[in-house]
Amino acid sequence: MRGGWNSTGRAEADGLKKISVGFLNKHGYFERGYRSGVITWTSGWDESKSNISISSTINDDTQKVHITYTITKHDGEKKDIDYDVPLTATPCNYGSERYWFTCPLYRNGRYCGRRVGTLYLGNGDYFGCRHCYDLTYASRNASEMYKGFVSAPDIDAQREKVKRMYYRGEPTRNYRKYLKMEEQFEMGLFKAVAKLDKRFGGIAKKYGV
Ligand SMILES: [Zn+2]
Repeated sequence: MRGGWNSTGRAEADGLKKISVGFLNKHGYFERGYRSGVITWTSGWDESKSNISISSTINDDTQKVHITYTITKHDGEKKDIDYDVPLTATPCNYGSERYWFTCPLYRNGRYCGRRVGTLYLGNGDYFGCRHCYDLTYASRNASEMYKGFVSAPDIDAQREKVKRMYYRGEPTRNYRKYLKMEEQFEMGLFKAVAKLDKRFGGIAKKYGV
């Protein structure tokens, strides 16, 4: 996974770190039992790396992922972050299940709890959905700038159409379309930010902008 998005125009470029159910599914995190690993992002023209530890617990009583990482504040102070993201399973055809994240963020004192396919680290300390991080708003701006840009509601609508992620080891048509839309969504954000902030040109270039 790679990223490079910054909403606040801070001096150092943090990556747009994200976790997707597709990525976790591909790497076996939704199989029954316990699984753990590390996700690493490379961002910025200096190719700086950052990572999180992630584990999943899937059994009859519990379906969740646990995330651990350290963030560095502006003043250089380090903060360890550690929390659960509940998963929601929805039945697919043929008796299998697909998993979604339940957005764990509170916004204006209200629990979000949206069922989403991707969580972003946005400009906060915790991973949350695109609604919580106002990426929906950013996407609206981007769609004004770029033709063919995918809007967040379009992605949500497509996600609902995904009855099954894989068939005989291959992603299904609807799932492929959903992933493509997620990709286009991010691409649009990169383009939008690159245009707004030339400092991100180096990152945008990697994405073929
Ligand atoms: Zn949310």
